[in-house]
Amino acid sequence: MWTKKVNALDEKINYIDVVDINDHLAYFYWGRHKDHSAMDMRLGGGTHAIYRGDSAIVVDTMNLPGQGERVRKHLQDNYAIKYFMVVNTHWHLDHITENHLYKNGSIIGHADTRKIILANKDAIEAGTLWGPPAFPAIPPNVTFKGRMDLWLEDLKVELHEFAIHCEGHLAVHLPDDKILLAADMLEDPIWIFNFDFATPETQLAEFERMMAMDIERIYASHCNLDTVKAGGYDKHFIKNNATYLKRMIADADN
Ligand SMILES: [Zn+2]
Repeated sequence: MWTKKVNALDEKINYIDVVDINDHLAYFYWGRHKDHSAMDMRLGGGTHAIYRGDSAIVVDTMNLPGQGERVRKHLQDNYAIKYFMVVNTHWHLDHITENHLYKNGSIIGHADTRKIILANKDAIEAGTLWGPPAFPAIPPNVTFKGRMDLWLEDLKVELHEFAIHCEGHLAVHLPDDKILLAADMLEDPIWIFNFDFATPETQLAEFERMMAMDIERIYASHCNLDTVKAGGYDKHFIKNNATYLKRMIADADN
């Protein structure tokens, strides 16, 4: 039985900033807390929701217990959302904490995301995989690899797998808006390296593939709130992350 007391809400830490990016896309930001024990709270980050009519696609379910519930309540109270679907961009724990709120509905994710969450279920639920907090490890219950399309009425939402950041990572593309939600494949101010599942060369090639997409605005999970409020990032964000990776590889070779 999971109760909120796992993490009694600390108002100083557990608040959410909401940015309405347009009339069907919102960003929920948990802030940067430089003294927090959890790295993702120090880094700052958030999740997105896409909505139309009475339905929403919640893209990831926040970082601390209680935050995902606030997102859900905000969508219900402010946008009159009744029906929810979740997309998990990847398995990392700052993206799946409150999947349990949606376990009776569709939680869509890459097949590897489901596999990894299930393989680490005991450690996640004991709070020992990355340290506290502990939370219920609920994996995606609708899985795919490669590409999938979702619809909110006439709004098309494309899911694209890229071999960047970790296995089974998805980007969310809104073709009508030319918007890409890159989740953790693009980050500001730091980019997290992981080459266990794909070589740096593979990941650089994936950035090239992303560059070729028809996108004008880019948003990410871990980013600068002022940039989001000012309209988001453009394709330089991809180039800058790729250049950073290229330079790190070049330095490592010396
Ligand atoms: Zn993250």
